Parts: sequence; C-alpha cells; structure tokens
Amino acid sequence: MRALSEIFAVCASSGSSFARAAVEIEASESGCSLETLRDGMRSRLKDMERSVEEALSGSWRGLLVPEEAYLLREYGADAPSFSSPFVLTAARIAIAVSTYNAAMGRIVAAPTAGSCGILPGLLFSYREYFDCDDETLLYGLFAAAAVGAVTAARATLAGASGGCQAECGAAAAMGAAALTQMRGGTPDAVGQAVALAYKSILGLVCDPVGGLVESPCIKRNGMLVSLGALAADMALAGLRSLIPPDEVIDAMGQVGRALPESLRETAGGGLAVTPTARELVAKLLHQE
Ligand code: SF4
Repeated sequence: MRALSEIFAVCASSGSSFARAAVEIEASESGCSLETLRDGMRSRLKDMERSVEEALSGSWRGLLVPEEAYLLREYGADAPSFSSPFVLTAARIAIAVSTYNAAMGRIVAAPTAGSCGILPGLLFSYREYFDCDDETLLYGLFAAAAVGAVTAARATLAGASGGCQAECGAAAAMGAAALTQMRGGTPDAVGQAVALAYKSILGLVCDPVGGLVESPCIKRNGMLVSLGALAADMALAGLRSLIPPDEVIDAMGQVGRALPESLRETAGGGLAVTPTARELVAKLLHQE
C-alpha cells in the first residue's frame, strides 16, 4: 500500500468504507485471508487494551519524568476544563501509556514506542464516550494502520529519519483517521483528517532529553490527541485541505529529510540541549 489514493480508488469502485478497502488491498497484496488479517488486528487491539489497563492501574514513572496522568483525572473532575471530557480522557490515557513505556511496560508501538500513547488514547476514550462495539474499534485501528503503512512507504515513521512529526505526528494523523472512520466518515473525510493533522505538525523536531523517550515525548503524546481529535472534527464538518493527503505525506517526508541531524533523535538540539536538560542528565549520570 503506497498511497491513500489507492484506497480511495477501491472505495469508489466497490462502495467500501476506507478501512474495509484498506483491508481488502492488504489481503490481496499479502496473500492473507481477510479473516487472518482481522484476527491479527483483534490481537493487537487486545494488547493495546491490556497496555491501557496496566498503565492506568499501576503507579509508573520514568527516570526523569514522574507519574502525572492521574492529575488530569482529578482536574477534569474538579473544574470546568477548556478541553472536552473526550480529549482530557484521551490525553490521560496517552500520558499513562507513554509513561508506562518509559517504565519498561509492554505497549503496542503504533506507530512507534515513543508515540505509543496517542492511538490508544483516542480509541479507548472513544469507547468511553461514544456508543461503540469492538468491531467499530477494530475498523478504526485498520484505518489507522493503513495511514501508518502509507506513511512508512512514502515518508518515514522514525524520529531518527524525520523528527517527531514522523512519530507523534503520524500517530495523531492515524488517530484522526481512526476517529473519522469510527464516526462513519466517508473515505474522503478520512483522507482529509489525515491531511489536516499532518499539515499542522510539519517540522516537529525530535529532541529527547538525555536521549530518553520521556521528555518531551510523554507530554507530546498527551498534547497531540487534541490534534487528532480536531482534525477528525474538521474533516467530518466538511473542511478540506488544499493539498491532497498523499502530497501532504510526501511533504512530511521531505521536511524530515531537511531537518538537521541534531533534531533527529540525537539529543543534540532543541529541548535536549537546554541548560536544565543538561543539568538533569548530569545528575542522572552522577547517580549511576
Ligand atoms: S521526541 Fe523523538 S523520541 Fe520522543 S516521541 Fe518524538 S520522535 Fe520519539
């Protein structure tokens, strides 16, 4: 699968939804049956669900970043918030899962370990606030997976190659596709959600403090659920990207290749070289 336009073409000829067309293409390219693909994705969804449960039920922290996801639950309960309950819950799940990853918990890297909170945040907050069965979530995940596959083929999903736009940005775009699919959006709306999410995150650098996948990674997971949610809302409302989705993904790849090495997971620039970051890393090394 090298282009979202391939998926749109199948949708147009068969009347399938975006996710269904993506599964059909995958089946014909891989030689796997539809049922095999569905079983595989069901198993990933179960793993993701388990990671959310473990992340929310334990007390986890990284080497630099403390446990903080619970603060969003308390905040949302105590005061009217600017973000919707859906977004706050998605952010809480995203931060919890991402912190669980930093604590060496087992997560589903969708698309990467660094960006592992965004998709479960959006999927399982969706299950909490919208009437939805497992089949709906499954097809949301298929839609997200198709966007990840096309991004990997046309651009990159690695922070070391394309910066954080290719990790957390990709997760937000995949989440936008999942939400749009689950709300019954047309294939075109799914593509628009992807384009709107990606074009708003172009150039996001990868600058982890100490090279650890903690800061800014964990909060970025929490923040970017809002991008995925708003991109889906805009697409469902009928807003359109001037640049078509595949071209936006190509632009993401081109921007990634243009980023200096210091901003591609080397901890050589951005937040990673601030005085506070240097001090924290020196303290950490001193403790060891
Ligand atoms: S800042 Fe870098 S390491 Fe952290 S999530 Fe983004 S791409 Fe991954």
